[in-house]
Amino acid sequence: MSVLKTRIVLLSTGTELSSGRSIDGNGPYMARELVAAGYEIAAQHILPDNTELLLETLEQFLKGPAPALIMSGGLGPTADDLTIDVLALLTNDEIVEDPAAFQKLQASARRMKSQLRIEEARRQVRTLRLAQVIKNEAGLAPGLCVRVHSKSIYALPGVPQEMRAMFQGGVLPDLQKHYPTDRSASQHYYIYGVGESRFQREFSGLGLSLDWGVTAGYGSIKFSVYQASLPELVTLKEWLGNAFREQVLVAPVEELLAAELLKRSETLGLAESCTGGLVGRILTDAPGASAYFKGGIVAYANSVKERVLQVDPAILSEQGAVSAECALAMARGARAALHVDHALSITGIAGPDGGTAEKPVGTVHLAYVGPERSETLLYSIPLDRERIRLYAAYSALFLAYRSLF
Ligand code: ATP
Ligand code: MG
Repeated sequence: MSVLKTRIVLLSTGTELSSGRSIDGNGPYMARELVAAGYEIAAQHILPDNTELLLETLEQFLKGPAPALIMSGGLGPTADDLTIDVLALLTNDEIVEDPAAFQKLQASARRMKSQLRIEEARRQVRTLRLAQVIKNEAGLAPGLCVRVHSKSIYALPGVPQEMRAMFQGGVLPDLQKHYPTDRSASQHYYIYGVGESRFQREFSGLGLSLDWGVTAGYGSIKFSVYQASLPELVTLKEWLGNAFREQVLVAPVEELLAAELLKRSETLGLAESCTGGLVGRILTDAPGASAYFKGGIVAYANSVKERVLQVDPAILSEQGAVSAECALAMARGARAALHVDHALSITGIAGPDGGTAEKPVGTVHLAYVGPERSETLLYSIPLDRERIRLYAAYSALFLAYRSLF
């Protein structure tokens, strides 16, 4: 399948970003969304609030092959917010006020009893006469799209919440209308229990000429396919199914686990030792988690394992806290204490100290206890403390998800 790729240029503005004081989140966010929608990223620029440098990059874009550029930042009320002025210079257009945004400014000034000085804030309701306004429901500064010949420049505020809403509601639909992409949307597979290099070797043997990439996760790899014809996708799915079976997921494990628990109206609880609450954190990162996640007990000390989770002291003294027996007892204890359908436990040695010849750093036992079955798993994770904990946390979520079926 030969396709014409639609290339997009991204530009994050702000001296805060270019000087390294804060990290660009807008560029990567838009890049991910655009690639998922079938576009290709030509470049991601990060520039300071400087008229000359901004103009230079925009002029270069107009001379290049990419049909669209999306910029963020610099639409606010302060003197370092230069986007409107730069676009006016670039397109020879006149700066005007967006009447709807100005009304919104007046209304909020009334609400705040004039604490907000209208004249000072007025700068951020500016737009250009010939621009198409992109409404900002979450804030004040409107976004805009200017067309130069057959090219488009979109400008969005820097505040991530505003940028995201306007990107989804304004920019993406406009892009799809003016520059439709004939690439299929991207597809991601999360494959557990296989390393990058083995996967790459086996996949290369298939001889599929796809646009693809592999990134290492924790206990899994993420395999992305950016463009595929239907027959290619069918071949790929068949191969993944044969080679990796139930180790292949089509979405992040925490999302699938949440959706499945929600569908069944069942609940999950945790007993975490070496992960110190990390699994609970991952689960509660999703809004609405309370519908299926009841809570977790961080049982770091043996005394807590014994008293709160009712782990038999004999297990602790004979097999030790890092053992399959202890993991199982912790999960049982959590299931009883938290009154949940499914319980998960993690106990291990995250290091850097505490390892022995018999139980080296990276030894982690996981256990699952549910209404019908229970299971324990042993991992040896030869990594550093942070990655051992993340690896253990995601592997535990995978164990819980797999145990549901
Ligand atoms: P404002 O009206 O707040 O001034 P603006 O459109 O002028 O909005 P900026 O002044 O560039 O945007 O940025 C406002 C804030 O948004 C920054 O202080 C920063 O916290 C955040 N921000 C801006 N750009 C980015 C970015 N690329 N990635 C992550 N955060 C950003
Ligand atoms: Mg600003």
